[in-house]
Amino acid sequence: MKFKKFFIILLCLSSIFCLFACDPEDGKILSDEDIRAALPGKDGKMTVLLDAGHGFGDPGCTSDYLNGLDERDITLSYVGLLKGKLESKGFEVLLTHDGTTYMSEAELTEKADLYGVEYKKENIKDNGVFDAYERAVYVNVLLNEREADYFLSIHVNASANSSTAEGFEIDYCAENGSSRHSEFVFRSICESLEGKFPDTPRKEFADSWDNAFIVTKYTNLPSALLELGFATTPSDAEKILDTVWQSELCDAVAEGIAKAFGK
Ligand SMILES: [Zn+2]
Repeated sequence: MKFKKFFIILLCLSSIFCLFACDPEDGKILSDEDIRAALPGKDGKMTVLLDAGHGFGDPGCTSDYLNGLDERDITLSYVGLLKGKLESKGFEVLLTHDGTTYMSEAELTEKADLYGVEYKKENIKDNGVFDAYERAVYVNVLLNEREADYFLSIHVNASANSSTAEGFEIDYCAENGSSRHSEFVFRSICESLEGKFPDTPRKEFADSWDNAFIVTKYTNLPSALLELGFATTPSDAEKILDTVWQSELCDAVAEGIAKAFGK
């Protein structure tokens, strides 16, 4: 029943967002300019909330090719770099965590209650480790506490059965209240990646509700999840660790976001 309540609250929030996002005239297809004009942050102050995938006790994926690092270390360093690039373009940037941030179960429960976000105790795995659902709750708690206009979660991919899988993967949830705006920013990031990395394979996913990543589907803001490459593929792992590659990739992502928001 509690879970049901969570969905009802999400549905209400989605509906409110949809009222804001959708064209009042039925049937009219909105132009890119219409969508951009309705993006959050049009008051001039634009804030991006960046999420370094994993952390909170969860290392994410690991691989022999990552020089002893794991996914959470890498996502944290990319998020730090991307933060600087976005700030230089005039965005304010917030981070979901800095690698040391921790919210206790009591705090998370109390804050989740305050914002009508369900915190399900049965989803806790090990003490001190945030699972995907807890991360989604945490992100929504942060979104309620801090003003943000866009949410991007950064991850490193891994393949259990291929050492040749390569390239970027970018996803947004196509079935929540912010999907139209998510898709708009997503397309801009994809174009920017295509421009800077034309030879790098890229998988683009408009995820259904059932297939969407939990942090994007429960986020009532335009959002996306970017996989930087495959830790389990030697050539991709080498690129992920390369500082020039890191800088160019963050440039491309920052430019894609900036273009979408008219910066
Ligand atoms: Zn991940």
